[in-house]
Amino acid sequence: MYPALFETLVESFRKLPGVGQKTAERYAFEFLKWDQEEIDEFLKVCSIAKKNLHTCKICGNLAEDELCEVCKDTTRDTSTICVVEQVQDLIAMEKTHEYKGVYHVLNGVISPSKGILPDDINIDSLIKRCDDTISEVIIATNPTVEGETTALYLSKLLEKKNIQATRIAHGLPMGAHLDYADEMTLIKAMENRKKME
Ligand code: ZN
Repeated sequence: MYPALFETLVESFRKLPGVGQKTAERYAFEFLKWDQEEIDEFLKVCSIAKKNLHTCKICGNLAEDELCEVCKDTTRDTSTICVVEQVQDLIAMEKTHEYKGVYHVLNGVISPSKGILPDDINIDSLIKRCDDTISEVIIATNPTVEGETTALYLSKLLEKKNIQATRIAHGLPMGAHLDYADEMTLIKAMENRKKME
């Protein structure tokens, strides 16, 4: 048996996604090897990040201020909104340097089997943004069952508001995730987007 304090440390690491018991134990042992200063610095960074990083008031992107860098940028085309599942997907799209519109981060996808319903993700705020200044909403959720379900749900809502919804093309393999796709695949997926019926 490990000392109780060590077990508590392991439990803390286990809260991170993809970290099982063995990995958590490795992290805990590694952490104990650090100098006290390194640990203090690490905890300081965690605390400052937690206090100062927010979600952008408009789009849900990660931001240090009220608005994120994209929404603050006056050269962006605010009539086109690209809808993504998570901040990592927005970053992947930004790395292509091709897209000049703005974004909306859903922070999840509709998944009835996991109990995630439309009200649980940032759909309401997207629909509120969709006034007559918006000419196109590009739905760039991942090509997974949940991503497709969400895309269909959004396209129906947008249709009611007479807003053109397009879906990125499937240069992306089914089940793939945007943040793992290479830049060329993402550029092609955007270029070949199709109207949603
Ligand atoms: Zn923003």
